[in-house]
Amino acid sequence: MENNKIIIANWKMNPVSSKEAESLFSSLKKEIKNIKDIETVICPPFIYLANFLKSKTKNLKLGSQNCFWENQGAYTGEISPLMLKNLGVEYIIIGHSEQRNYSGETDEMIAKKIKAVIENGLTPVLCVGETLEQKKNELAKKIIEKQLEQGLFLISNSKIIVAYEPVWAIGTGNDCQPEEASEMIRFIKYLLNSKFHILNSRVIYGGSVDSKDIADYLKYPEIEGALVGGASLGIEEFKKIINEASKSIKTKSASK
Ligand code: PEP
Repeated sequence: MENNKIIIANWKMNPVSSKEAESLFSSLKKEIKNIKDIETVICPPFIYLANFLKSKTKNLKLGSQNCFWENQGAYTGEISPLMLKNLGVEYIIIGHSEQRNYSGETDEMIAKKIKAVIENGLTPVLCVGETLEQKKNELAKKIIEKQLEQGLFLISNSKIIVAYEPVWAIGTGNDCQPEEASEMIRFIKYLLNSKFHILNSRVIYGGSVDSKDIADYLKYPEIEGALVGGASLGIEEFKKIINEASKSIKTKSASK
């Protein structure tokens, strides 16, 4: 298990020009260059990735928001994990609820993608999370267990990140309380270790995280980072998130 917390920025389908994307990335790089205790990963839309290669550093890495499960061939419109690896990408988000909802991604497709990402030596960020209806019906744990089981069945002990992203908390401003998130993350870690025998994993939280609450999540040792959507698109706000995350780590080590 790695010690540093990881903050992954999911830009989703933003911004709309490479000029804006480059300006966002370079300001961000400048703002966080002295923060060494947080691993920051930026996941822009595919078409901007190549522009950022020269600017990535040890603590500012690149990820993509999706990939296909084959490395090359007649798969119109797809991007392969091998292409992303050759470009210098290190992380790939798989199974985001927006892909599941809008692109019809199934657990079977997710399992094949996770396997392909791992076979290419990259780290998948597998997103799991229950809907509001499932939560209301007290099905959350059952759903998470099923998503893990179906997403991970093609791999054995491998380095992965799991992002607990309750669907009802994504992009809604309606975040899952840190204590509730930490309880689910403990459950996920328990399943990863004891049921799926995946020992080299990190589990993070995602869902309307901002600079005001990031420290409340990270104070739980089992919450090893955050996946940040909307709040990663504003330089000032994202810089504050990274700073708050770094401060929370320093506070914790000072109080030991
Ligand atoms: C996400 O898209 O993974 C996400 C967590 O979005 P937001 O922070 O906007 O809820």
